[in-house]
Amino acid sequence: MPSSLSSSFTLSLPAWLQRELAALPHELDGAEAQMALVNRLADRNWREGNGGPFAAIVVDHTTGELVSAGVNVVLASGKSSAHAEVMALGLAQERLGTWDLGAQRDLALVVNWRPCVQCYGATMWSGVRHLVVAGDGPELERLTGFDEGPMVADWAAQFEARGISVTQDVGRDDALAVYRAYGASASTVYNARGAGRIDKE
Ligand SMILES: [Zn+2]
Repeated sequence: MPSSLSSSFTLSLPAWLQRELAALPHELDGAEAQMALVNRLADRNWREGNGGPFAAIVVDHTTGELVSAGVNVVLASGKSSAHAEVMALGLAQERLGTWDLGAQRDLALVVNWRPCVQCYGATMWSGVRHLVVAGDGPELERLTGFDEGPMVADWAAQFEARGISVTQDVGRDDALAVYRAYGASASTVYNARGAGRIDKE
């Protein structure tokens, strides 16, 4: 362990996605097109070894303007909180210069499954007014071995009660295909309880 305490840390997108940012569409028309990008980035992310098979984007709910794109970089960064949602929200806040993504814009977070227990809170705190997910339910954990934490059963209703709309099952089959491929690989699953695998379907 270093002798002096750390004073800061940085989370960065992986090099392959940094190179691709300028070529991403400026606008993505509709949730299906938005999730198609998310699923594509998620699939590449785990294959590149940056982290889990997860990606997220922040978009303007009305125009479809792409505001940020994030992927899970837990393995690349060595930071357990560096989930795709945290990356996309933080990068959007960096770009817009505000901690409140709802202050001046009507923004949506688009992510390839229901957020984990950490990102549930991160999303709620972020100010986004819409959440679009590819799915909900136990398939993700069964296929990948991740432990998403003790999510409340009424998670979507809790968002709605705070003025955050929830749209589910967008691009679900494509998301499950990514998880299935990941689960069949020898990738590291980085649950806090260890890197061991649990039984998968
Ligand atoms: Zn998460």
